[in-house]
Amino acid sequence: MEEVKETSAVHDVTELEKHYLLGTYARFPVVFTKGKGVFVEDINGKKYLDMISGLGVNALGYAHPRIVKVIREQAAKLIHISNLYYNQYQGPLAKKLIEASGLSRVFFSNTGTEAMDGAIKFARAHGHKVGGEGKFKLVAATNSFHGRTYGGMSLTATAKYRDDFKPLLEGVTFIDLNDIEALRAAVDDSTCGVFLETVQGEGGIFECTSEFLQAARQVCNQHRAALVLDEIQCGLGRTGEMFAFKHHGVTPDILTVAKPLAAGLPLGAIIVTQEIADVISAGKHGTTFGGGPLACRTALEFLSIIEEDHLLEHVQKVGAYFHQELVNLRDNFALVREVRGRGLMLALDLNIPSRPYADAALVAGVLINSTHDTTLRFLPSFITEEKHVDKTIKVLKKLLKKKIE
Ligand SMILES: *Cc1c(COP(=O)(O)O)cnc(C)c1O
Repeated sequence: MEEVKETSAVHDVTELEKHYLLGTYARFPVVFTKGKGVFVEDINGKKYLDMISGLGVNALGYAHPRIVKVIREQAAKLIHISNLYYNQYQGPLAKKLIEASGLSRVFFSNTGTEAMDGAIKFARAHGHKVGGEGKFKLVAATNSFHGRTYGGMSLTATAKYRDDFKPLLEGVTFIDLNDIEALRAAVDDSTCGVFLETVQGEGGIFECTSEFLQAARQVCNQHRAALVLDEIQCGLGRTGEMFAFKHHGVTPDILTVAKPLAAGLPLGAIIVTQEIADVISAGKHGTTFGGGPLACRTALEFLSIIEEDHLLEHVQKVGAYFHQELVNLRDNFALVREVRGRGLMLALDLNIPSRPYADAALVAGVLINSTHDTTLRFLPSFITEEKHVDKTIKVLKKLLKKKIE
């Protein structure tokens, strides 16, 4: 296989990291310096089509003129002021998220995992209020991913993410996704929350069925447990609806979002019903950075662009086209097992390890991600067009002709 060219510029960067950084990332051997639209450029000037968009964060691509403008303006005015004081942007951003979700109140965090930790706190505080101290148990799905802090990790089933760090939070039960019987058996009056990704991302793009989500809603109502939907990856337009739960006619009590919210700046949100909000008073939760004026103003611009440029419709249209093209690959290549997902959250499952294909795609100038051993994951930006899908498919066709190890 052709290698990515290791120039001295790349070597300098990687060597320094090898000496001074923790070895937490199995990085691709490439150093990026800038981007424009759906393309990103490496330190040697080679251009790549980005079909993973910074793990779903860069939903407007790179250097979007409106995002650059608003960041420039706000950075010159006020970046941070802390939550001791008001800034002008948390209120309007919260209002937009409430109108879009149908819930009632918002708390701003910095990251996804922090949003999940807050969600666990709120579910427990609510549980204690309606059912006493003993109502603290959490139910989550196998193959889930909810982040790296103790809360998020405790709800993350996969052994490699958690086993070295035990003991984790107590009272967590895992059930298989879409197993309604197991869900009903796991939830009782001691349960304070059921935590699900509406579409599992890191686990390889597996969607909750409508029946499963409806059963979860019903069983949570029955036992006064909070239904918590983690839409950190699948929310904010990625599936072609503002929130993935909109496809299923089910509304959560607590909703978490993050990745694309502030177009690349760190920002997450916990969005809750009034009933959950009522158990959280001043001093019970907080953050130094979360909800700062720079991130919140940028997020407002992100949501305006989604609306004004009709990007949900665009995601539906290009997503349907991409899905069909992947189905064609499945029908024509023996190495492909399955196509999953919707909108611009798609997966091609192989019957051999997928990482060598992601490596080879990089060499061919297309960024895709390998997850869950055999899955190629696509999380392209919402401005991706059919011609970019065609280029991706062309590269995949070439690579899938032979077994790469
Ligand atoms: C990425 C992700 C998280 C964690 O978010 P961070 O910002 O990395 O902490 C949690 N849940 C889901 C579904 C995610 O995709």
